[in-house]
Amino acid sequence: AKDKGRNTYHIYSQAVHRDLAKKLEMVKQLRHAVEQESLEVYYQPKVELLGHRIIGLEALVRWVKEDGTVIGPDQFIPVAEDTGLIIPLSEYVMRTACHQLKRWHEMGFSELTMAINISGKQLHLPDLVETIVDNVNEARLSPRFIELELTEQVFIENIQSHTNFMHSVREHGMSLAIDDFGVGYSSLSYLKNFPVTSLKIDRSFVKDLPDNEDDAVIVQTIINLAKNLNIQLVAEGIETSEQVEFLLSRDCGIGQGYLFSRPVPAEEITQLLQNYQGL
Ligand code: C2E
Ligand code: CA
Ligand code: CA
Ligand code: CA
Repeated sequence: AKDKGRNTYHIYSQAVHRDLAKKLEMVKQLRHAVEQESLEVYYQPKVELLGHRIIGLEALVRWVKEDGTVIGPDQFIPVAEDTGLIIPLSEYVMRTACHQLKRWHEMGFSELTMAINISGKQLHLPDLVETIVDNVNEARLSPRFIELELTEQVFIENIQSHTNFMHSVREHGMSLAIDDFGVGYSSLSYLKNFPVTSLKIDRSFVKDLPDNEDDAVIVQTIINLAKNLNIQLVAEGIETSEQVEFLLSRDCGIGQGYLFSRPVPAEEITQLLQNYQGL
């Protein structure tokens, strides 16, 4: 039994060592990608469910490896957050997305908005709002076209610096969205305490619509809540026209999802805009 134990430990420690080596290699490569600005920003349209007009875009970062493989953010954002790389990474996404939005505006799609995901780690930067505003100004955009998305978790941590950040965002004329709404804890008091302009219903509640009755009730409740608070509502993860019908019948008019478009490179969004939004 002793021998077996020792062997098990040996195997385990090798596995841990391998994982650690793999992680360090990833950190090294990610640092390189951030420094070389070889990350890519993809965009997913936000559409009016009635008529499918594109009203805005969400910037979603991708890591395109040298061999062309595309790695999704779920696989490297946590590493970026642990290592501090999230700061230069986010600045790159912000700068790229603002300049791209300006290009679309100049092509005539001049009312499009851009949503940018903000990591909780960025909120520790005392001059975050100034950095964002600098980027927006540098791209010669009005701040009213910029929406910052924060996950519900950040709102629950009722920290003074977060509150200051959010008020400052609104004072500069930018919008503020709660991302993944509904998956956090059920304290809704933050809706009252924070100057939120929109709610994004998490995909997990949309996925099984319209058949799942619990989800139908939850979504209906969130729709009512948003309406009563006069907050814009966006349904995430729409994949079927049945989901669209359900949402429209309950008066939720804006959504995102693979049904309309996956997140794609800027050129593909330009194609979509030109083909379907006739200019
Ligand atoms: P998120 O902000 O909730 O973004 C929505 C995610 O849902 C995206 O995954 C999108 O591709 C996916 N999605 C959209 N529509 C559908 C659908 O119809 N069906 C399904 N199954 N999925 C759909 P993605 O691009 O992999 O991003 C994952 C998360 O990574 C994002 O979740 C966001 O939290 C984070 N992220 C992405 N880009 C950035 C960034 O630049 N900065 C920060 N801090 N986080 C980012
Ligand atoms: Ca988001
Ligand atoms: Ca989300
Ligand atoms: Ca999410």
